[in-house]
Amino acid sequence: MIMTTNKEDKLCHEIHVDLPALAAGQLDAGARAAIERHLSFCPGCQFEWRQHELVWRCLGWSGDVEPPSDLRTRVLEAIQEHETKHGK
Ligand SMILES: [Zn+2]
Repeated sequence: MIMTTNKEDKLCHEIHVDLPALAAGQLDAGARAAIERHLSFCPGCQFEWRQHELVWRCLGWSGDVEPPSDLRTRVLEAIQEHETKHGK
């Protein structure tokens, strides 16, 4: 339980719900600021956020940025390799 939370700050579960939207660049400035303020004092949510950030960065897809063209190829190759190894 976070003792420093005041009623203006969002609760952790609310932060977690919003993290995918934040990673996707879908939140407005006010919502982003609220989450960033929470992250500044909540290690649990910081950790959670890093997971999201990492996943989205790996996908090469944040907001309206197009994924790199070779990402699709690499993913498809990985899937094919997996199917070959495991007999589909
Ligand atoms: Zn939190």
